[in-house]
Amino acid sequence: MEDLMNKIVSLAKRRGFVYPSSEIYGGFGSCYDFGPLGVELKNNIKKSWWDEMTKKQENIVGLDASILMSPKVWQASGHLTAGFADELVECKKCRKRFRKDFIEGKKCPECNGELSESRKFNLMMKTYVGPVEDEAEETYLRAETCQGIYVNFKNVAQSTRLKIPFGICQIGKSFRNEITPKDFIYRVREFEQMEMQWFCPASLDKVTQINADSDADKRGWTPDKWFEFWLKERLNWYYGLGIKEENLRTREVGKDELAHYAKRAVDIEYKFPFGWKEVEGVHNRGDWDLSNHSKASGEDLGCINEETKEKYFPNIIETSIGVDRCLLMFLCDGYEEVEGGRTETTEAKKELETVLKLHKNLAPVKVAVLPLVKNKPEIVEKAKEVYSFLKQNFVCQYDESGSIGRRYRRQDEIGTVFCITIDFQTLEDNTVTVRDRDTMEQRRSSAMSIDKII
Ligand code: ATP
Repeated sequence: MEDLMNKIVSLAKRRGFVYPSSEIYGGFGSCYDFGPLGVELKNNIKKSWWDEMTKKQENIVGLDASILMSPKVWQASGHLTAGFADELVECKKCRKRFRKDFIEGKKCPECNGELSESRKFNLMMKTYVGPVEDEAEETYLRAETCQGIYVNFKNVAQSTRLKIPFGICQIGKSFRNEITPKDFIYRVREFEQMEMQWFCPASLDKVTQINADSDADKRGWTPDKWFEFWLKERLNWYYGLGIKEENLRTREVGKDELAHYAKRAVDIEYKFPFGWKEVEGVHNRGDWDLSNHSKASGEDLGCINEETKEKYFPNIIETSIGVDRCLLMFLCDGYEEVEGGRTETTEAKKELETVLKLHKNLAPVKVAVLPLVKNKPEIVEKAKEVYSFLKQNFVCQYDESGSIGRRYRRQDEIGTVFCITIDFQTLEDNTVTVRDRDTMEQRRSSAMSIDKII
């Protein structure tokens, strides 16, 4: 399995999905850069999630809060205290530090040296705002995007006139000073999150109680029912994007593992080559966030129940997923190797071929345009014409170098959905061959209408 991971890391680097950050200076603290294909894939993942939330679902609006916020936010949220700290142990011999819950024995996993007692290590990254490096100017890079949503709850409710239940979603960078970043882009110190916070009523009055279980009137749903709803919706998002069912599971987070404010948490886990690991968390955060920020800021973030006129703090169901982890999951799930070759040519039959079966909405390149030969000017000219036409609407590559079989394989390896070949027949009847990545089927189609097929 380690071997599979090495292959994926190597493909990611070689083909321009993910590079180590600052590589020419020897890399930097488990940071990564997304190359030309990586950024397309990342954007497609984000678009799919954003459309899911703001178009497919009802009553969800977007937000883009700043990364830097008042340190009071982090004070109130509990991030500056022990609540947002991992247990750290240090090797007395080699001085390396490890997250205690990642260590299997009592010795250093690197040099077998003796380990120190554990101590709490806060994960917030400190920075200074303004020209003076003193405490007054000290703040933190956000460790989760959701706090930006909570502090804007009232702004959004007032400016959109949305009524509970409604949701706010956000995509953005978060930073955690992880003690042991590992597994390529799975655990890093700078990452992107896609979070949706669903605000719903907590207790039910007599009128809504009657409809509490009715699907027709979701206004009466309890936080527990919303939790089930969002968990199911989130799983469907993965299946809809082709994640194999056997590679996805849910795990109920044990009461002893729950964050102090959480009432319930379920992790959505993916079977990575390095084991079952969390990609997303669905959390019932109760009314802790809004009541707590109200108390700390003095700004009333409560709502009024229109029927009973009682005041309450909305409960929050959160869905939180990391883009980087998710991208790694799609690379792993789509990666396939075919011994002896899957393409038509004899030279390919001798080799191991790789195909990246990414969902067509996620694939970074949708179509490649390939002139059959490069020494026939009419074919090259026609291919360039088709390429210029398609690239206006699709991420598209033009490739004329090497045999056609080799070019198909180059495209399969990065998950290109269709390859279009311009050949001698094209010059006669203006048709091209369209090759499907997954079935390898080729059919002829009019050059004028290929944009409809993609
Ligand atoms: P873990 O237990 O893996 O440290 P967590 O339970 O602390 O994660 P949350 O705080 O629930 O994670 O964050 C929500 C999501 O953000 C995670 O499911 C994950 O996809 C992503 N995420 C969190 N920390 C990291 C990280 N260091 N690198 C990449 N993604 C991360």
